[in-house]
Amino acid sequence: MPARSDLATDPGVLADLAAVRLGTAYFRRALLHVADDDLAGPSLLDGWSRAALVAHVGYNARALARLVEWAATGVENPMYASPEVRNEEIAYGASLRPIALRNLAEHAAIDLDVRWRDLPDERWSWTVRTAQGREVPASETVWMRMREVWLHAVDLDSGARVRDVPAPVLERLLRDVVGMWSRRDAIEVAVVADDVQVGDPSSAQRVVKASLPDAVAWATGRGTLPGEDPAPRWL
Ligand code: ZN
Repeated sequence: MPARSDLATDPGVLADLAAVRLGTAYFRRALLHVADDDLAGPSLLDGWSRAALVAHVGYNARALARLVEWAATGVENPMYASPEVRNEEIAYGASLRPIALRNLAEHAAIDLDVRWRDLPDERWSWTVRTAQGREVPASETVWMRMREVWLHAVDLDSGARVRDVPAPVLERLLRDVVGMWSRRDAIEVAVVADDVQVGDPSSAQRVVKASLPDAVAWATGRGTLPGEDPAPRWL
């Protein structure tokens, strides 16, 4: 029987679930501020229409739901069959009429949330594999979704701003991005953002100082900083 409240008991997982639901509501509001006629217009992501972005966010929820299903059943269920399938479904979603596209995004988000709610406590640590090939516990799907909904709400360019994103989410994003540069590209960057410090300024090749929202906008390729070169690529 489906549960009416979360089966997870880990305080960290429960806090993340609360945060992702806030982000989902924020994305929903940002999308409500896009008129149907403006869906075909450009998002802030280079080369992406708003419709393609909404389709991507919807299909991302479906892909993460497959990982939650994997954790629930123990049967491998990858996010996407292939990168081509992922791109094809985004193109298909972007071609839908506005009402159908909005329904896709809404239903996919609700379905993912129900799967999280009903995932038994002991299954949250089950190892699943992301589209990038990283092996992570099922609980990581909540953070993966959090990044998507908060940042892509901003990308819709309908009034959402990086400075509206809660500071703990911004700090975690910054740690993710700086960690990725270090691991993947051996680029050591330290960021001093308000009272948050990421990386080691004494050994970094590059030290960036900015407010936390400005630092995240810069680090994720969504803004520039005076006197700074563009950030290295993130994803
Ligand atoms: Zn995305």
